[in-house]
Amino acid sequence: MLDFMRPLTIHTRHFPPRGFYAITLFPFIFYRGRGLSVSALRHETVHLWQQAALLVLPFYVLYLVFWIVGLLRYRNGHRAYREIPFERSAYALESSPRPSAVRQAFGWITELGRSQSLPKDCSEESVSKPTNLP
Ligand SMILES: [Zn+2]
Repeated sequence: MLDFMRPLTIHTRHFPPRGFYAITLFPFIFYRGRGLSVSALRHETVHLWQQAALLVLPFYVLYLVFWIVGLLRYRNGHRAYREIPFERSAYALESSPRPSAVRQAFGWITELGRSQSLPKDCSEESVSKPTNLP
């Protein structure tokens, strides 16, 4: 990883809000709880690359648009979140030890139009699990 993209992690007690584990707001990764796991750090680092590649603000606009479209399509907040191309890419890459910068930044494009085969029952239980936000 290039040095200028080394994640700046910040542990806080109250941010992100309860129910969420970590959030990336370029150039910082905020997290709560005991610490960032390796996979969570990789996941959030992918979001850093995505945000940098889109010059930050357009990332958030697209993220919101993707989430609203997913919400209308699936009528389930958790499923809508998991279907966001940025999230699909980040989850796919969080188990990769050294994905390329290009793949981290632009891998989400290959996720456009795809749909996960999640169980139809994205129940309240799955919604209440701690989640990584962008
Ligand atoms: Zn995420």
